[in-house]
Amino acid sequence: MLERFISVSSEEEALAQLNAHGEELQILAGGTDLMVQLQQSGQRTRRLLHIEKIPGLQKISYNGETGIGALCTHRQIVESTLLAHYRSLRQAAAQVGGWQTQMVGTLGGNICNASPAADTLPPLLVHDARITLVSQARGSRVVDLEKFLLGRRHTDRHHDELVSGITLSQPPERGSDIYIKVGRRSATEVAIVGLAACVALDEHRRLIEDVRLAVCSVGPVPKRLYEIENLIKGQEISDSLLDEAGEMLLELIEPIDDVRASKKYRAMVAPRVLREAITCCAQNASG
Ligand SMILES: Cc1cc2nc3c(=O)[nH]c(=O)nc-3n(C[C@H](O)[C@H](O)[C@H](O)COP(=O)(O)OP(=O)(O)OC[C@H]3O[C@@H](n4cnc5c(N)ncnc54)[C@H](O)[C@@H]3O)c2cc1C
Repeated sequence: MLERFISVSSEEEALAQLNAHGEELQILAGGTDLMVQLQQSGQRTRRLLHIEKIPGLQKISYNGETGIGALCTHRQIVESTLLAHYRSLRQAAAQVGGWQTQMVGTLGGNICNASPAADTLPPLLVHDARITLVSQARGSRVVDLEKFLLGRRHTDRHHDELVSGITLSQPPERGSDIYIKVGRRSATEVAIVGLAACVALDEHRRLIEDVRLAVCSVGPVPKRLYEIENLIKGQEISDSLLDEAGEMLLELIEPIDDVRASKKYRAMVAPRVLREAITCCAQNASG
């Protein structure tokens, strides 16, 4: 039996609980990760802080920059017109499990769970997402997602902190973005390889002016691929450039064998996904 289940309906209440009992409390949002983990680990005495009903954290807004409340569900993200220019994020959210999982699973939960295979992390990384954390004792702080993700299921969140929202950078002009997920049964399967790209072309729509790339499921933590970005920036897309990018990718990722796919398969697929993502984005951006 659970020792205690605390349900809060405001951010202030949540922060007061975390301030008093942060080390013993486990935050529960949609529960699609946590409930499975608790069941599998047999940890039935954890105290749960249920935050799903905090109203202010369920909004998507635009106020000079785009903000997404931590409790926004994947379905909300898929259906939001305010996120029309963040196609890769909507594509990723649309592939987090099936419909039922998307209806309750939250963006904040996907981030804080910090799974190597979390679908929304590559698109958030290519849009330079920043995470807002709040605590009663120290107020709020903002951390780049990249720095927030410390390792496999390990983040920079302190015990008394709540993730309240995510802010995205403005999408680039003459740009296009995409998320490609390779899974055994597409939408209802965890990614074997996931890759997000955001490509912007120069004013003549010939050279790559800006490119951002990020991967998941091919290492302990989803990450940006800066070396490949630097290789491609300022160049015109060609077969040889994409071949070189694919070879570089194999040096940057750390695929493993697991129940979903072999290391060999992941290494074979990843460069193809990279090629497809960059080509698609460049084609879309060229109008
Ligand atoms: C059938 C099934 C299929 C799935 N398929 C996929 C998939 O294809 N791709 C994928 O990426 N994921 C998948 N998932 C995992 C899961 O649905 C997502 O990671 C989801 O976004 C988690 O959100 P949640 O609100 O349910 O998180 P919860 O389970 O409530 O919490 C997850 C973790 O985040 C912490 N947390 C949650 N919110 C906050 C907050 N605001 N502040 C601080 N800490 C917080 C919790 O303490 C916990 O450690 C699947 C899950 C299921 C059950």
